[in-house]
Amino acid sequence: MINMVKESTYSGGRVYVCEKCGLKYRERIWAEKCEEFCTKHNACSIEITKHAIK
Ligand SMILES: [Zn+2]
Repeated sequence: MINMVKESTYSGGRVYVCEKCGLKYRERIWAEKCEEFCTKHNACSIEITKHAIK
């Protein structure tokens, strides 16, 4: 399955964006998990979003 996680920059560093909810992550793995969860459940998991960049 192809994931749609988008790369972006934030504070001069590379970040990964969940295209469903728009949250940014330092690690691609979390953006992928977030997007998978958001797509399946149409909601975010706090266990995942706690890894997001504030
Ligand atoms: Zn998400």
